[in-house]
Amino acid sequence: MIKVAINGYGTIGKRVADAVAAQKDMQVVGVSKTRPSAEAFVAKERGYPLFIADLSKKAAFEKAGLKVAGSCEDMCKLADVVVDATPGDIGATNKPLYEKLGVKAVWQGGEDHEIADFSFNSSCNYKDAIGRQFVRVVSCNTTGLCRIINEIDKEFGVTHVHAIMVRRGADPGEIKRGPIDAIVLDPVSVPSHHGPDLLTVLPHVSITTMAMIVPTTMMHMHAIRISTKKTVDRERVIELINNHPRLGLIKKTAGIKSTAELKEFAMDLGRQRSDLYENCIFEESIFAEKNELCFFQAIHQEADVVVENVDAIRAMMGAEKDAKRSVEMTNTALGFVHIQNNH
Ligand code: NAD
Repeated sequence: MIKVAINGYGTIGKRVADAVAAQKDMQVVGVSKTRPSAEAFVAKERGYPLFIADLSKKAAFEKAGLKVAGSCEDMCKLADVVVDATPGDIGATNKPLYEKLGVKAVWQGGEDHEIADFSFNSSCNYKDAIGRQFVRVVSCNTTGLCRIINEIDKEFGVTHVHAIMVRRGADPGEIKRGPIDAIVLDPVSVPSHHGPDLLTVLPHVSITTMAMIVPTTMMHMHAIRISTKKTVDRERVIELINNHPRLGLIKKTAGIKSTAELKEFAMDLGRQRSDLYENCIFEESIFAEKNELCFFQAIHQEADVVVENVDAIRAMMGAEKDAKRSVEMTNTALGFVHIQNNH
C-alpha cells in the first residue's frame, strides 16, 4: 500500500484524499488543516487522521471535538508521498520539510514549475514521472489543454493553438472572491500564463492563450482553435475523444449548452460532489475544415486535476509503469464512467 498524506485539506486536497482512499493500492495516512472548519469535520467523518499546521491551535481543534494526531511534520513522516494542496505559493514554503524528511511530494498548479522542475499530465508524460521525488501537477486549465492538444498533435500534427479561457471567478465555497459584476481580463496582456504553462509539459507545441474571469463558480469554458499539419477529419476527432479515458463528449442529444446544465447533469448522475474529472467537449461545436479545428470545452476546475494527482503518485512510486493502466485503475476505483456513455 502506498501511504499518502494530504497537506492542505481544501478544495483540491479533500477530493484527492477521497480519490486516494478509493484506490486499492493506496491509503490516506493523514490530512492537514489550519483551522477547525467544516472540512475538518468531514475529515473526521471519513476517518482520516487530522494533523495541524500550527500545534499552538491544538486546543481550538480539541475544543471543537476534533482529535489532533500531530503536526504536519509528524504526518509527513508517516507518508511515502505527500500531496501538497495548500494554497498557491504556500506549497513552496513546505519544500524544505519534504527535503529534510526525504519524502516524495506532489505540488499543484498554484506553484511554479521550478518547485519540482517537472510538470505532470498523465496523458502526456507519465513515464517521465517514474521514480521522481518531486512532481507538480499542472493547473486545471493547463490539464484540460494538455489532454486534448496532445491527442490532436499525435494524430494530425499541431502547427499552432489559439485558446481563449473564460475562467470561473471563484470556487463555489469561496465567498470572498469575485468579480460579482464584471468581466475581468486576466491578464490584459497576451499571452496569459496558460500557454507558457502548457509548454512545461508539451514544450514543442506553439500556443497563444488569452484569459478572462467571469462571475460564475461552476466551471471554466475554453474556446480553442488548432491549426494542423494534416487535414483534420471531424469523425476521427470524435473517435479520438471517445477513445481517451479523460476526454468527455457532450452530445447534441443531451441538449446541454452551458456549464450550469453540465453540473446539473453530473449531480443527477450521482457523481460525488458533482465532479467532472474529464474535459467536457461539446460535440456540436467541433468544426473541422482543411487544417483547422475549433471547439468549446468546459473544464471543472475542482476535479480534473484530482485524478492526475493519483496517477502522479503511482508513477513516482514506480508502482505502475504503464500510464494507460494507471489511468484505468484510477478511473475504475472512482467508478468514473465516460460522460458520453451516460447520454
Ligand atoms: P483551498 O484554499 O481550497 O485549500 C487549501 C487548504 O490548505 C485549506 O484547507 C487551508 O486551510 C490549508 N492550508 C493553508 N495553509 C496551510 C499550511 N501552511 N499548511 C497546511 N495546510 C494549509 O485551495 P485549493 O483551491 O484547494 O488550491 C490548492 C492548490 O491547488 C493551489 O496550488 C491551487 O492553485 C491548485 N488548484 C486549485 C484549483 C481550484 O479550482 N480550486 C484547481 C487546480 C489547481
